[in-house]
Order: sequence, then C-alpha cells, then structure tokens
Amino acid sequence: MSEAGYERYIKLLKNHFASCGKKPKAAVVTYGCQQNISDSEIIKGMLDAAGYGFCDDYEKADLVVFNTCAVREHAEMRVYGNIGALKPIKRARPDLKIAVCGCMMQQEHVQKQIKEKYRHVDMVFGPSLVSRFPEMLYKSIEHGQKSFDRSEIPEIIEGMPVRRAENGKAWVTVMYGCNNFCTYCIVPYVRGRERSRKAEDIVNEARSLVKDGFKDITLLGQNVNSYGKDLAGGCDFADLLRELNGIEGDFWLRFVTSHPKDCTHKLLDTMAECDKVCRQLHLPFQSGSDRVLDAMNRRYTAEKYVSLIDYAKEKMPDIALTSDVIVGFPGETEAEFEKTVELVKRVEFDNLFTFIYSKREGTPAAVMADPVTDEQKQRRFDRLLEVIHPISRKKNERLLNKTVKVFVEGTSKTDKNVLTGKTEGGKTVDFKGESSLIGGFAFVKITECKTWSLAGETV
Ligand code: SF4
Repeated sequence: MSEAGYERYIKLLKNHFASCGKKPKAAVVTYGCQQNISDSEIIKGMLDAAGYGFCDDYEKADLVVFNTCAVREHAEMRVYGNIGALKPIKRARPDLKIAVCGCMMQQEHVQKQIKEKYRHVDMVFGPSLVSRFPEMLYKSIEHGQKSFDRSEIPEIIEGMPVRRAENGKAWVTVMYGCNNFCTYCIVPYVRGRERSRKAEDIVNEARSLVKDGFKDITLLGQNVNSYGKDLAGGCDFADLLRELNGIEGDFWLRFVTSHPKDCTHKLLDTMAECDKVCRQLHLPFQSGSDRVLDAMNRRYTAEKYVSLIDYAKEKMPDIALTSDVIVGFPGETEAEFEKTVELVKRVEFDNLFTFIYSKREGTPAAVMADPVTDEQKQRRFDRLLEVIHPISRKKNERLLNKTVKVFVEGTSKTDKNVLTGKTEGGKTVDFKGESSLIGGFAFVKITECKTWSLAGETV
C-alpha cells in the first residue's frame, strides 16, 4: 500500500465517525521491545488522525489493539490470555473491534491458532503491515470484514503519523529487519531482511523532533551497526550518527541495538567525538563461551568482544556498558556458563539483561539437544544476578556526590512527588523537583546509590 493508501482510509474512518457523531476510544497495549513501542506510536498516530481518543479500560474501548512480541514464550502466553479475556466483552458488545499485530502475528501457526480458537478477533497482521491497519479497520467497521494477513511489505513508508509520549523522549527507527539469523532468535523470520531508511529522512525527522523540543532521541534497529549496507551512497551508522550530531540544539542521542560483529572502531571513535551521543553502549554478548557463541551463530569470539569493550573504555573512560546474556542455551555446560561469569566480571557491566533461553518454534536452536534442566538454568540465572549486583552497585557508587546531567522522564512509579530521569549512561535517578522539569534536562547531585538506581537532589 502506498502512502496515499493509508491516508485514504484514515479519511474514510474520520468521515465515518463524523457522520455518526461518535468519538471512538482505543486501547493500545504494547508488549516487547522499543521497536514495538515505536510501532505502537505509529498505530496511535493513525488512530488519532482517524478521530480516536485513547483509554486503558477495555470495557470502555471501541477498539482494542494488542501489539505483540514473539521473542519469549512467556510473553506469548500472556497475549493468548489477554485475547481470551476479551471474549465476554465482545459477546456483550459485538461492535468492539479487536486487532492483534506485531511479531507474534507474523508466524503462520499463531495466525492459524487465532483464527481457529479466538474467533472474536477481527484483524491480525504482522509488523510490516502497520500502514495497512487503517484499511483493515475501515473494512471491519464498514463491512464486517475480517483480516488475517501475513504478507510482508519490503518498502519503507515514510511520513506516517506518530503519536509520541509527551515527555520529550522519542524513538526514531533507522532500519528494519535483521539478516543475522542468530540460531535462538525469531526476529529475522518475523521482521524480514534489513532495510535502512534514507539518511536524509532520518536527519529530517530528528531535526523536526529537536525543533519540537524533544531532548532524548533513541535510534532504533535490530542491528543498527548494519545501517546503510543496503543503501547506495556509503553512509554507515557512524556517518549517520555524526550527521545527527550536527543538528543544532541541546539534545541527546542514544541507539539500540548493536551487534559485536558489526561494531567498529570507527563507530566507537565517532561516539567519543560526538558531544550529543550518550556515553552508553548496549552491546549484547549473549555468552562468554566461544563454542556456545558459534552454536548461536553470533560470529565473534569472547576475546573479540572484550577487545571491543577495552577500546570503548580507552576512548570513553566514563562509558556505561550494558548487555544481554542468555543462560541455558541448548547444551551449555557448567564450564561454558563459567566463561560467561568470567566475562561479566572482566567487563564490569553497569547493567545486565539476563534471560533464560526460551525455545522459539522455527529457529535452528529449537531442535538442538537440550540436556540442561530447568533447575540448572534457573541456578545459573540466579548466580549471574549474584555476580552482577555488586558490580552494578560499585559502578553506581562512582557517581556518589557527583553532579550529573539528567533527562527528566516523568514522576516515579512509586511516589508521585518524586521525579525520575536518566543519566547519559542510562542510569535511573530519582529526585525531588518541579514537574515543569519533565521533558527537559536537570542537574542532580547524587546522594544515594542503590543497585539499579540512584537518588539525588537538584542543584
Ligand atoms: S542480531 Fe541476532 S538476536 Fe538480534 S535480532 Fe538479529 S537474529 Fe535476533
């Protein structure tokens, strides 16, 4: 569908609601990663343009959208539970429209299951079909037509409306898809091959965000280090960062996710030289064992990973380092797990996102022999937490009594009188301050360090 296609159906929806004098409400629920949060912002942007307001209460909603994630089995189970819970509401209010989208819905067996067992669902589509959502919705409202679509649109559609959070924080996708086929990962099967946006489109979007007052911009891609490989012109991710850094204004740039095999010295040099690029690197290593890395098809060694980190620390001594790690990959031995522990101790991460291996149907790892018991996996997971806790705390303590610049995201979830924000390194800081600071920067003196967060007072 062309750009004009979604615009046409947004207009038709708008006219439909205007003619019946209705202000419909939508509940949009997002599971999973930042890419999904960004996709949901586009879904909300299109709904907003079509005349929808928003609510959290399914009982009051005219439309419920579940934007799903396929990365972990547990999240999938939750989605099925939540879809099932809508059945009695749909029975009582047949006009309620239910759309389920995102990575999980790109899988054939999932669409089949929804079609057969969750017949109250009206629209099902994968992540590349977001631009077709207004058409599906219109046809469902106007003609009662159901849509189940797994087709992939390879082209990138620019300019779709976006409804961003009002806290000065913005996600900007730089590329879609992934070519890496790590053996445990479902993403390449559900988000397709790598497609980069043109640099000028990204720069224009970032420039207008800065003009609109956004201060914390995160560049998104499954593997941002691959940016530009599919484009003519030779602009790679480091070049893109440098160009974005040249936009005038007081703002921060972050990016996720990087892949060690594609992370270059050029990129790390560029980070060090660009004042708006945060000193924060999320570089997933997944395992400290070369045998496991090979079985994961990660295409780097633990030594190569550590040497990249050493280079990053040399160029940016204050850099905050985070990583993803999988414990209990099929066949991982105790000795191999110990190599992961060694690497964690050697690097001294600021934070670690640790996952127990989750089997994903259709991936090569799903058919690998897996003699490791669930108890062993859980023990390794717990041990890794025991190792990372004191390291994270020690890293946080380095900031004690220092004044740091903080991007203020909002109020604390546990105390509405406390503001919460992020340092350049992505560390959470809680402090007392005026709510007018939300969406901007504040300078905070750190007075307390916990394992996962800091507390302080404005200066
Ligand atoms: S790089 Fe590997 S883990 Fe990341 S999205 Fe691609 S296949 Fe998945």
